[in-house]
Amino acid sequence: MLAVLMAPLAVYAQAIDWPAGSVLSAAQLKLLGEDAFFWSSPVTDDVFERIDGLSFGRGCTTKRASLAYLHVLHHNFAGRSQVGEMICAQAAAADLLAIFRELYDAGYPIEKMYLVDRYGASDERSMADNNTSCFNFRSRPGQKTLSLHAGGLAVDINPLYNPYVKGARIEPADGAQYADRSRRCRYYIRKGDVCWKAFTRRGWSWGGSWRSAQDYQHFEKNH
Ligand SMILES: [Zn+2]
Repeated sequence: MLAVLMAPLAVYAQAIDWPAGSVLSAAQLKLLGEDAFFWSSPVTDDVFERIDGLSFGRGCTTKRASLAYLHVLHHNFAGRSQVGEMICAQAAAADLLAIFRELYDAGYPIEKMYLVDRYGASDERSMADNNTSCFNFRSRPGQKTLSLHAGGLAVDINPLYNPYVKGARIEPADGAQYADRSRRCRYYIRKGDVCWKAFTRRGWSWGGSWRSAQDYQHFEKNH
């Protein structure tokens, strides 16, 4: 009887243990169940050690307790199921779990989803590696005011292919070729597509619609 009760817990623990970047086979997904990979938790000590002094840098005014750690699945560019992780505002966690579940179920391609701390909390390096991320205690591009990323209320999706463009200023620099939105590219975020709908239906706004600059990778929850 005990073994029967313990088995589901053991399977669930296995799903929790998969680190970001893990690629799962169909057999593994069938055994563990996709649902077990979509969860959020407070920022535990183990996670905090990874961000302290980096995305959670000195002078960080965002409270650790206001943040959540997300664990999700996404389809990588080869179409395989891959584990992703993200730190966001607790207030955004339910939205983002639902959004990434919707994108996963739709087969939407997201290349990788690691904490920005993997890149030394460098937004430029994370974007250049096409890393999808959320929390980073930093200012807006070229400004001194805090970005909504600083509170975990903004997400950048496939940023290399969806750069930030303000006149001649393009971030990441390697994304310059993708500033031309008349090109055909399956990784471009466009108004009305699956990704745009998943966010905007839940009240998130898209940086690609901004007037003074276009931030094609960026969705934010600003109310
Ligand atoms: Zn952004």
